Amino acid sequence: MTGARVDERSRSVAPGGEEPHVVIVGGGIAGLAAAEALVGTGCRITLVESRRRVGGRAASFEDGAGGLVDACQHVAMGCCTNLLDLMRRTGLDDAVRCDRTMWFIGPSGDRAACTPARWLPAPLHLAPLLVSMRHFTWREKLALAGGMLRLARLHPRDSPPTTALDWLRTSGQPDTVIRLFWQPVLESALGESIDLVDVVAARKVLVDGFLAHRHAADLWVPTVPLGEVFGARLAAWLASQGVVVRTGWKASAIERDAAGDARAVVGEGAHLPCDAVIVSVPWRAAARLVSDLVPEVDERLGGSPITAVHLWFDRPVVDLPHAVLVGRTSQWVFRSDSVAGASGHCQVVISASRGLLGDRAGLLDTVVAELRDVFPAAREAILRDAKVVTDPTAVLSVRPGVEAARPQSVTAASNILLAGDWTATGWPSTMEGAVRSGRIAAAGAATRLGKQAARLVPDLPRSALVRLLVGTGRS
Ligand SMILES: Cc1cc2nc3c(=O)[nH]c(=O)nc-3n(C[C@H](O)[C@H](O)[C@H](O)COP(=O)(O)OP(=O)(O)OC[C@H]3O[C@@H](n4cnc5c(N)ncnc54)[C@H](O)[C@@H]3O)c2cc1C
Repeated sequence: MTGARVDERSRSVAPGGEEPHVVIVGGGIAGLAAAEALVGTGCRITLVESRRRVGGRAASFEDGAGGLVDACQHVAMGCCTNLLDLMRRTGLDDAVRCDRTMWFIGPSGDRAACTPARWLPAPLHLAPLLVSMRHFTWREKLALAGGMLRLARLHPRDSPPTTALDWLRTSGQPDTVIRLFWQPVLESALGESIDLVDVVAARKVLVDGFLAHRHAADLWVPTVPLGEVFGARLAAWLASQGVVVRTGWKASAIERDAAGDARAVVGEGAHLPCDAVIVSVPWRAAARLVSDLVPEVDERLGGSPITAVHLWFDRPVVDLPHAVLVGRTSQWVFRSDSVAGASGHCQVVISASRGLLGDRAGLLDTVVAELRDVFPAAREAILRDAKVVTDPTAVLSVRPGVEAARPQSVTAASNILLAGDWTATGWPSTMEGAVRSGRIAAAGAATRLGKQAARLVPDLPRSALVRLLVGTGRS
């Protein structure tokens, strides 16, 4: 964006201007995406965030040396088309790298480098992935391929509510395949254990995240801390486009007129008059601000915990950028390439960690022992520091029946829109889901104000073979 354009936007947001005013409450990825989608629509945009930095759950903490460390490693996949588009449009595409190889480390320490083929049409591009998993017998590999096909062909509409684990067992998936493939893959992608997640959510991960396209399973890994990507750079980009970003500003109420429409956002002793509001806060906070528009979400939606175990060794111990550790407590280990000068730092991510929360010391011992088991360099290394970070409601728990409780963006109040990874985007609670929700809400607000905002970009196109195998309906 040129300087001239920035000046023009700055003029257009002068107080008292004619442009309709949209206030976005909540500066997580959903709120930030909503603001980006509204840039250039001729609306004044104010985003208020209660914390010191925007970015929400995609956050970093300061280590002792003044650097930023992500509270929990985040990764996206190639199927996250809207997140990647947002990053491109805001000049953040240099803050992520694309890794095509996923490393699996089996129970006996054997390593499988799984790289989808570039030269085979989807879904056959996954064949090398199956072949390289040496911890499975050929019989198990065939069972896994068959299970993938059956799950992909399961039509969400015809599926009675059931959990992924029940479905996998009923369809004859061997226990080893469930434990060493489905469990780590689905739990990492959905942030919830397979005995609780809806099989329909599991199908979505499989189809959109693996089968649909040769690039669907590409791993997009941040190369700089999230606090820098979203908290600083995206916030600065929005400000340069005329968006007023107010941090440390907690909305305490939304003032409504007799018809229920929003007139102002109230907080911090101030009063922000508005023509539309996008409420992009987590569900419990939304239930407090607009209880009549999201009735009962507080009771019907639940969160799932994710734990990150940060370890600072006296030297680098993990010789891979990241690896899925199957059949262990540690689920995914990441080498911290983004932590400047902290080459001995790595973090282990454990989704659905509710059973592990009581015994921090025991968890640390287990994780360190597992790392020493699979990474020889860790055996000699001295552990200098450790930190266990758990978010008890890291993601929405996508259990059977939860889809019916996720509200649409449009509400009964004509100028109040909802956003957030918990709303009905059709996506699990992820950065992609958050961006989609923000864009959907921005489009709704803009339409209400007679404007047009950036809309969702399409999913990766499905090949003819995928359409034949999976059907043409979206997952
Ligand atoms: C540990 C962990 C690991 C994760 N791993 C991944 C991953 O690998 N890949 C992935 O895609 N996703 C991952 N996620 C999920 C991802 O972080 C979220 O889906 C996404 O960040 C949600 O964004 P959001 O804007 O919907 O909500 P939030 O990030 O929760 O943002 C809501 C914002 O609203 C603010 N707020 C609340 N109330 C008020 C108020 N009254 N006034 C003003 N502001 C308010 C909050 O402070 C917050 O900043 C992970 C999440 C966690 C916690």
